[in-house]
Amino acid sequence: MHYILCTVIDKWRCVKLAYFINEDCISCGACAAECPVSCIAEGKEKYVIDASQCIECGACADVCPVEAPKKAE
Ligand code: SF4
Ligand code: SF4
Repeated sequence: MHYILCTVIDKWRCVKLAYFINEDCISCGACAAECPVSCIAEGKEKYVIDASQCIECGACADVCPVEAPKKAE
């Protein structure tokens, strides 16, 4: 499990990093339909993952046509 210190929104709060969607996303919506915990939503420019809900199953990465979901290192 990986954590970063979120200094912009709340400098005392740690945010979990699970899967995230990079800029290659073409907003097809396939990942959101597959996510077992429904933690993927359409954002302004691409789909986004709620890292606090992600269980790191990898289903989004498996269905994405452009390999936009990545596991945070
Ligand atoms: Fe959802 Fe699994 Fe992708 Fe996390 S890894 S966003 S739980 S489909
Ligand atoms: Fe974006 Fe890939 Fe999800 Fe489609 S499946 S919305 S391209 S991240």
